[in-house]
Amino acid sequence: MSENLSETRPNTPSLDAFWMPFTANRQFKASPRMLVSAEGMHYTADDGRRILDGTAGLWCVNAGHGRRGIAEAVAHQLERLDFAPTFQMGHPIAFDFAERLAAIAPGGPEAGLDRVFLTNSGSESVDTALKIALAYQRAIGQGTRTRLIGRERGYHGVGFGGISVGGIVTNRRAFPQLPGADHLRHTHDPARNAFAKGQPEHGADLADDLERLVQLHGAETIAACIVEPVAGSTGVLIPPRGYLERLREICTRHGILLIFDEVITGFGRLGTPFATDFFGVVPDLVTTAKGITNGTVPMGAVFARRAVHDALMQGPDGIELFHGYTYSGHPVACAAGIATLDIYAREGLLTRAAELAGDWASAMHDLRARAHVSDIRTIGLVAGIELTPRPDAPGKRAYEVFTDCFRRGLLIRVTGDIIALSPPLIVERDEIREMAEIVGAAIDRVA
Ligand code: PMP
Repeated sequence: MSENLSETRPNTPSLDAFWMPFTANRQFKASPRMLVSAEGMHYTADDGRRILDGTAGLWCVNAGHGRRGIAEAVAHQLERLDFAPTFQMGHPIAFDFAERLAAIAPGGPEAGLDRVFLTNSGSESVDTALKIALAYQRAIGQGTRTRLIGRERGYHGVGFGGISVGGIVTNRRAFPQLPGADHLRHTHDPARNAFAKGQPEHGADLADDLERLVQLHGAETIAACIVEPVAGSTGVLIPPRGYLERLREICTRHGILLIFDEVITGFGRLGTPFATDFFGVVPDLVTTAKGITNGTVPMGAVFARRAVHDALMQGPDGIELFHGYTYSGHPVACAAGIATLDIYAREGLLTRAAELAGDWASAMHDLRARAHVSDIRTIGLVAGIELTPRPDAPGKRAYEVFTDCFRRGLLIRVTGDIIALSPPLIVERDEIREMAEIVGAAIDRVA
């Protein structure tokens, strides 16, 4: 089949060898969608069509595509120092980058989340944060705290730690889990909160689920609780008012570390540098990736409270966190990261979503009257549009909207029967309207 495709599509390579992530190869090969270049808000497909990027790649290209400053910084760094280890060695750009990150750390200077562990992805950031939490509890004499709490419908990447605290059944089913992991209920309650703009009113009490797990397992067994402030991959689930505050209070009362997974919300998605700033709730650890380099070079970072970091530096040999990656602080990724932060600062992109959030919410909520739309959720520059599933084929309706949008020149993302939109933060108002129009037309057609 791939040979036939190559005949009809001159730029299409054989589609056999690449084992695609989270993708049914056979389905993809039947109608491949290939992106060959990108600039600003648009991709170009292999048939020459311009595709408006409604998803910032995969929630990561916050400053838009083809940023020259990043390309130049990467090229320069490759020539100057292509690689150097950070195990018992250092190179200046890793320290520079960590300091730049610390200067904009979640929660601002008072929060003290200014110790930065560098990784290469969101999954690595999550597993790093979970390990830091476990090592910290041990270091302060709380070694019985080995249990990790996540949440239903949470997505924390694909490491064994991440799938254990994650709440997506298909990601967990075939694999063993970390012992003792348990889950809070998710916060999605369409019966009470459908079509809420921003944070839903009802459901702060769902945080009391953590109190229930404390009573069930004993606080002395629980090391940390991890949540996405806004759950992205499972359909844009926005925390009810007061929910995160309550989680924080319960964690503090019981000596449980609170981890915010900001792999999606980090770097301006909500109109503040981090969701921690948006909600005004300060966790003990924050995981990031994606927008940290504008999606250009794989990288992630874990921000840790200084007290957590310092507790792990007290041991006799000064190493209590036996953990790290060959590419922690990779010089090329750091160069991309610094150039990215420069662009964010120069163009005000970490707060731009706040300026556009009103127009964004109106454009998206205008889709409310379309057929099969059962809920719309918006916050910052992210939206989830939920369709009523077809009883005979759950997920099919949204998937058809996705393929129809692509045909019309818009890249969206779907998960189950939920459409997710999260454009680059450089998006203009007319492009927001264009996205809503295309999604509306696609929903109409599928209906
Ligand atoms: N955590 C969250 C909240 C995410 O959204 C993602 C990726 N979408 C990850 C972790 C995993 O990141 P990666 O794919 O870079 O490993």
